[in-house]
Amino acid sequence: MATKETGKSGLRNGPAIVILGVAQDGGVPQAGEKRADRWTDPSVSRYAASLALVDRPGGGRWLFEATPDFRWQLAALDRAMPVEPLPGIDGLFLSHAHIGHYAGLIFLGRESMNAKDVPVYALPRLRRFLETNAPWEQLARCGNIDLRGMEGGEEIELNRSLRVTPFTVPHRQEYSETAAFRIEGPHRTALFLPDIDSWELWEEEGVRVEEMIARVDVAFLDGTFYDDAELPGRDRSAIPHPTITHSMKRFASLGAADRSKVYFIHINHTNKALDRESEERRRVESEGFCLAEEGMVFEL
Ligand SMILES: [Zn+2]
Ligand SMILES: [Zn+2]
Repeated sequence: MATKETGKSGLRNGPAIVILGVAQDGGVPQAGEKRADRWTDPSVSRYAASLALVDRPGGGRWLFEATPDFRWQLAALDRAMPVEPLPGIDGLFLSHAHIGHYAGLIFLGRESMNAKDVPVYALPRLRRFLETNAPWEQLARCGNIDLRGMEGGEEIELNRSLRVTPFTVPHRQEYSETAAFRIEGPHRTALFLPDIDSWELWEEEGVRVEEMIARVDVAFLDGTFYDDAELPGRDRSAIPHPTITHSMKRFASLGAADRSKVYFIHINHTNKALDRESEERRRVESEGFCLAEEGMVFEL
């Protein structure tokens, strides 16, 4: 795949989030994709969902998710904020053990970068999973990664002006629990929640997504599927996500300012709103929401 220009412009001196990928785990194009343009035209392909948090100048670089597109995303991060030596990651936050969110760790190992002590933050079940299963346990054993625990609701102070707080969300708890993240800078706060089964399930656990949106300045939320007509032949109940149409309906009660904070991310290759000229994209935007795009920069 050709490289993409990501996050090159727009970075000022303060801390910022740079979007490094917006696709669901399998990326766009996904394995088996027939649409030829997605293999040849970088403007219609997408990396798996990932954010970088950068604090300039020289203040640090943190990554949210280690995706299968890690190689390209590290290069994009380095174009946005170069450091020596690579990988130059002060912390890598993982949400859960589905391939699009952690499989990129392999590139830190001996067969690739042979990185040294990259701090990797994971909730308890995910941490245990990584410590006890090949090939991940080798990364820890060989000192490529430095596995650090994190706990839901417990704030992690990255430096004097940046804080990250993970919290758990309901999402198919297969090999691990699933985290979402609140990322707090000196002036603004972001929410990164790429994968959830449903807003209603979360509400049963006592958290209303609308309240979470109200408490941040920008919210990157699960937009995997546009509507229920996607994925003919696959049982959608086995892969639950709030569809974008459902979320828009639910969030219609929010004021325009809160709606404009919502950037859908973790977009499946079947989601028609990926196409910038589509009717579906126009509808999302006309209702006051956005789709996250690689290279977007959000000052914190
Ligand atoms: Zn995912
Ligand atoms: Zn998942």
